[in-house]
Amino acid sequence: MDMNTIRCNLCSSPMEITKILKHNKMFGIVFIVIGIFLSISLAGILLGIMFLVVGIIMCTKKKEIWYCSSCKTIINRVDRVNNAP
Ligand SMILES: [Zn+2]
Repeated sequence: MDMNTIRCNLCSSPMEITKILKHNKMFGIVFIVIGIFLSISLAGILLGIMFLVVGIIMCTKKKEIWYCSSCKTIINRVDRVNNAP
């Protein structure tokens, strides 16, 4: 058995790693639309670009989660950055 697989707390099925969007995509789209409108006027172009960048990040940034295909349970994966060998 794969050492990286964990079992679901509720139905003890093996869970799989899935990537989902980290942020709400609707917010990202709203930011992009605001950014486009601000960029139309010369005065708002800097602010518009900032909104555009934030919106694109929100629409593309993903995180890894544990996903149980049996009961649809989702568990956030903790990034082990400071892992000692
Ligand atoms: Zn489950």
